[in-house]
Amino acid sequence: MSALLEVDALRAGYDGIAVVRDLDLHVDAGEIVALLGPNGAGKTTTLTTISRLLPALGGDIRLAGSSILGARPHAVARRGVAHVPEDRSLFHHLTVTENLRVAGARDGTERALDWFPALEPLLRRRAGLLSGGEQQMLSLARALALDPMLLMIDELSLGLAPVVVERILPVLRRAADEQGTAVLLVEQHVHLALDVADRGYVLSHGELVLSGTAAHLADNRHLLESSYLGGSEIDDAVEQERTEVHERPVPPRHTG
Ligand code: ATP
Repeated sequence: MSALLEVDALRAGYDGIAVVRDLDLHVDAGEIVALLGPNGAGKTTTLTTISRLLPALGGDIRLAGSSILGARPHAVARRGVAHVPEDRSLFHHLTVTENLRVAGARDGTERALDWFPALEPLLRRRAGLLSGGEQQMLSLARALALDPMLLMIDELSLGLAPVVVERILPVLRRAADEQGTAVLLVEQHVHLALDVADRGYVLSHGELVLSGTAAHLADNRHLLESSYLGGSEIDDAVEQERTEVHERPVPPRHTG
């Protein structure tokens, strides 16, 4: 069976100039995948291209087996892709309830509160008056109320206290486990992302330099940190890891 989201040899960028090159990645239903990498690596460009707000320069993007390259952004959204951008895209002058209604989900408010009960006492408050954490909850609640097949979140923790992020992340796990939502998460705080993710990809200078299970990436800090530098540094780190493995003392044999 094909993955829910498949990105093949994607070239993405601006004015015909690729800032993401030859990117292959996939996200299965019920899986949380972290897209990591330093500033300017191309993470936001990748998400924006998947949601079709930015035209792809090459390659393919498939959702549940069908290419979405010819689809307009609203059609991609209707097919079950929810994109929570870095600025959270809330209507600041509208109340929480109105923001939820605008999203257009039937029973939207009820469903949103099921994901984030903390929003209930805030329903009549304008979104612009909410704290950063409450705003992020609202933007996620609005996305989850639509019951998306794929949820993409850009910089979930931007401007939030770690304690707030720790309250929000389990909701993503619940969406993946209970609804089978595929989650693609861009996150600067690598340890937070790897704590909740199943797998991760690292982009550096627009190219994929490392991928693996979250546990593998978390256990290989040196490799992960080097991957943020990209290019020859990652080759050196892989070589060093190989050397370390070979140089490990051989345990004595039991002859016995
Ligand atoms: P950050 O965490 O800083 O947002 P990122 O990994 O999300 O980093 P992108 O925002 O995708 O990276 O940027 C990738 C490259 O594309 C950068 O070199 C950036 O300067 C460039 N870029 C981003 N937006 C535009 C734009 N609208 N027009 C031209 N170039 C852009």
